[in-house]
Amino acid sequence: MCKTHVLSVSASKAPFEKTMIERRQLRPDDVSIDIKFSGICHSDIHSAHGDWAGGIFPMVPGHEISGIVKAVGQKVTKFAVGDRVGVGCYVDSCGECEYCLRGEEQHCSKGNVATYNSLDYDGNPTYGGYGQNIVVTERFVVHIPDRMELDVASPLLCAGITTYSPLKRWKAGPGKKVAILGMGGLGHIAIQFAHAMGAEVSVLSRGKDKENEALSFGADHYFSTINTETFNMLAGRFDLILNTVSAPIDVDVYLSLLRVDGTLINVGAPAEPSQYNVFSLIMSRRSIAGSLVGGLLETQEMLDFAAVHGIKPQIEIIRADQVDEAYERVLRSDVRYRFVIDISTL
Ligand code: NAP
Ligand code: ZN
Repeated sequence: MCKTHVLSVSASKAPFEKTMIERRQLRPDDVSIDIKFSGICHSDIHSAHGDWAGGIFPMVPGHEISGIVKAVGQKVTKFAVGDRVGVGCYVDSCGECEYCLRGEEQHCSKGNVATYNSLDYDGNPTYGGYGQNIVVTERFVVHIPDRMELDVASPLLCAGITTYSPLKRWKAGPGKKVAILGMGGLGHIAIQFAHAMGAEVSVLSRGKDKENEALSFGADHYFSTINTETFNMLAGRFDLILNTVSAPIDVDVYLSLLRVDGTLINVGAPAEPSQYNVFSLIMSRRSIAGSLVGGLLETQEMLDFAAVHGIKPQIEIIRADQVDEAYERVLRSDVRYRFVIDISTL
């Protein structure tokens, strides 16, 4: 066992405090990682605030982890001490079911083990990346490409793969009109991926204040959803809308912006259920879909794609004592565009 300093919350909506936890003894296929940076995903806030059912407290959030390998178990083959690595939303899965064998560990039939707020296969709670060290089975660790800084890489471990995976699956590319709904942590990376994949990219954001940055990330068009004229103007326009909004949306209104056969893909995960009128689907053969992060192979592919295409999260680095304030700012959408905790300040 190895004791490590972490930031934890003792109960739903409690403030963060510096505490100690124990990481497990290194198993033969484990990698021990000294965490350097940890991104703040809106899912951390949903979890720590108990928005979704079943919070396990005390909770150490964090599933956008980048760091350096400190030690490896004797059977580890892919990593060596000193390697620059990342860990995302999951730390284990059965490895044997049809989904794991296909590289879609996020859909493991046995039920995978999330990086935090989850129980591992021995029944112990998992603790995430707002801390100095983590021990993870090597299958769930990825290499950070050489030309990518560790701080910039960290948001890609969740926000990156969560947007790359559906954009690729639903074939965002040349000739496709893609809208990114919501320009926060996920949205600002989605713009860059959709642009790099060759799609015509529109951003649907509430205000007009993010327009210049959206265009600098590769958007071709920018529309304010506060202006009701936007919805008349864009009716029937998009092949895909990637919804990254953390709050409920008016589903029918956004479905009306899709062409025949268009798809509204939800990655934003508010707790409240959505409603829609089936005629919004029937009349133009439209679909509604959802997508959950992505598998390990695809995560590595996404990192390599981001490195080749110069895709970079725009981050604001914060100290460990600023996390409570950062949560409040994310809830006010006052973040450009991802907070990343510098773990050396813990
Ligand atoms: P974020 O940085 O807070 O961005 C969310 C964006 O949604 C905001 O920037 C804002 O965009 C828009 N928004 C927020 N509140 C709104 C409201 N009341 N009405 C309309 N628009 C609003 O959050 P994030 O980290 O990108 O995460 C976004 C969502 O994705 C969260 O629900 C998170 O849990 C979920 N998520 C899902 C997965 C998955 O696997 N499916 C993975 C990671 C995260 P504008 O200011 O541009 O309007
Ligand atoms: Zn996340």
